Amino acid sequence: MREKDLGADLESVLITKEEIDAKLAELAVKIDAEYAGKDLLLVGVLKGAVMVMADLARALSSRVTMDWMAVSSYGEGTQSSGVVRILKDLDADIKGRHVLIVEDIIDSGLTLSWLLSNLGSREPASLRVCTLLRKPDAAKVDIEVEWVGFDIPNEFVVGYGLDYAEKYRNLPFVGTLAPHVYSG
Ligand code: 5GP
Ligand code: MG
Ligand code: MG
Repeated sequence: MREKDLGADLESVLITKEEIDAKLAELAVKIDAEYAGKDLLLVGVLKGAVMVMADLARALSSRVTMDWMAVSSYGEGTQSSGVVRILKDLDADIKGRHVLIVEDIIDSGLTLSWLLSNLGSREPASLRVCTLLRKPDAAKVDIEVEWVGFDIPNEFVVGYGLDYAEKYRNLPFVGTLAPHVYSG
């Protein structure tokens, strides 16, 4: 690990790289079974889902295709703005296709419920969700998430794709930041 640079800003490691790998392998078996004999399109939500997409896709044995969408719901801070904007739309037409949204984290569920209605209106054959992390508030909104890696406490986490002000995405694990990082 990189205790001297990135690691110096961390308070704790919540989920190790080994735990993430094991969980994605477990989810991949279920996803492979669910889509057996079907063409699956994985839709990754940039930028946070880059790591989970890369590792989940390689854990699958099915033939899949991948596409990306970039939306923005948070600014540079840790609070939801409540506004979702498309920064980059899908390249593919998803009409009639089996689509699996791959997410890093579901917190308020705002981003996801917006995505589900936006992509749902494009008439995919099926539309489901896999997320690495889910926070407690996600239970308050009425969205169905088929595959969840880890339910985590209501803390702001970074690493494995997740950022704070665009930093810490390259940590290979999920952790929490030390208070001095926020206080500047
Ligand atoms: P939601 O709309 O469900 O509240 O949040 C979705 C997005 O907010 C995630 O894709 C992620 O970009 C950001 N987010 C929510 N919780 C966290 C967190 O604990 N850490 C980080 N780094 N981003 C988060
Ligand atoms: Mg995300
Ligand atoms: Mg972010």
